[in-house]
Amino acid sequence: MADAEEPEKKRRRIEDLTEKMAVESGHRDGGWDGRWNHVRKFLERPGPFTHPDFEPSTESLQFLLETCKILVIGAGGLGCELLKNLALSGFRLIHVVDMDTIDVSNLNRQFLFRPKDVGRPKAEVAADFINNRIPGCKVVPHFKKIQDFDESFYRQFHIIVCGLDSIIARRWINGMLISVLSYEDGVLDPSSIIPLIDGGTEGFKGNARVILPGMTACIDCTLELYPPQINFPMCTIASMPRLPEHCIEYARILQWPKEQPFGETSLDGDNPEHIQWVFERSKDRASQFNIPGVTYRLTQGVVKRIIPAVASTNAVIAAACATEVFKIATSAYIPLNNYLVFNDVDGLYTYTFEAERKENCTACSQVPQDLQFPPSAKLQEVLEYLTENASLQMKSPAITTTLEGKNKTLYLQSVKSIEERTRPNLCKTLKELGLSDGQEIAVADVTTPQTVLFKINFTA
Ligand SMILES: [Zn+2]
Repeated sequence: MADAEEPEKKRRRIEDLTEKMAVESGHRDGGWDGRWNHVRKFLERPGPFTHPDFEPSTESLQFLLETCKILVIGAGGLGCELLKNLALSGFRLIHVVDMDTIDVSNLNRQFLFRPKDVGRPKAEVAADFINNRIPGCKVVPHFKKIQDFDESFYRQFHIIVCGLDSIIARRWINGMLISVLSYEDGVLDPSSIIPLIDGGTEGFKGNARVILPGMTACIDCTLELYPPQINFPMCTIASMPRLPEHCIEYARILQWPKEQPFGETSLDGDNPEHIQWVFERSKDRASQFNIPGVTYRLTQGVVKRIIPAVASTNAVIAAACATEVFKIATSAYIPLNNYLVFNDVDGLYTYTFEAERKENCTACSQVPQDLQFPPSAKLQEVLEYLTENASLQMKSPAITTTLEGKNKTLYLQSVKSIEERTRPNLCKTLKELGLSDGQEIAVADVTTPQTVLFKINFTA
């Protein structure tokens, strides 16, 4: 009991002290006199790297402390770093959204969490930690999915920064920020732009980018940069393995369904008996081909498709993102233009390039999307195109259209009864479905908050 009270007491003591100091020194900006001197050095004097239009003043700091509202999406590896960096840079009005709870395996790098927090929502624990540690900071947690919020929620922020591990979630928030843009006579209203700073890491690789929705390349403009999930060619797995991973995939994909070691259950990456079975078979296979390196840990990694998280990569990427937030919020420095790549797999390698907007981007171009299909093409082929095309990469598209003035669902996967009812349409040709040349179809998908319109042009 005494232990539990200790941090609370300490916090109050700091608060009391802060209050006194603030009164005595005339500074009421949450901290001791000189609390933000490190930030002032950047904002209250000129420097060789400042923006050409930059004029030193005390107003920028006041803006950070009192007005600027930041949304951090994700309170995991990147999120913890981002919250710490932003709060220590003078940002105090921060919201954080995360739908996850804390797992014991997070504790090595998600440093705002302690063993006692396991099982609690990441967003709430992270917010409490920052608010207790940094007087005056007001982090507001949301233990929710980003899809639970609408436009009006996102519109309140000056800048949004993402530390996500999901491409679907990235694309969704990207689509949301595009949907809040307003145009007058086809001209973008700059005040409707909410800059999106996006950080991503995968093992020893990472990237940070600055997106000005409607102005610079968006997530969907550069979708080809995200490699589809690594799948080894089946012929390699089946007949000429070279890597330990090939042997594990052999056991997972070919031997498991054939031998059904645990009956008809599918392989469960969290079941140690299942992993052990795959591990044993992979070892046998590897020894036939003299391939070293199959371990239980690697087996679990391949089956669960785990890429180990690296704390230092997260730290570098989050620092780059927080710096960009600071630059944009204060206009004191020129922002990153616009894509930073970081790699410390072997030595350290980094470079920056300008990702370009794609003229016919499905998310940000406002150009209607044309699809070319012969009338004899089956709906299945359209569905495959939407999911497999590198610049679309949809997950479970729902296709509707208007026929004889009525809305008609051609195919919808997410609701079982509708899926069953519309499944026969997949084998029908576009002509049989009653579609005509130039027909518009509306496609909804988890990768975007908006429906995407396509026009089907018949080819001969
Ligand atoms: Zn785009």
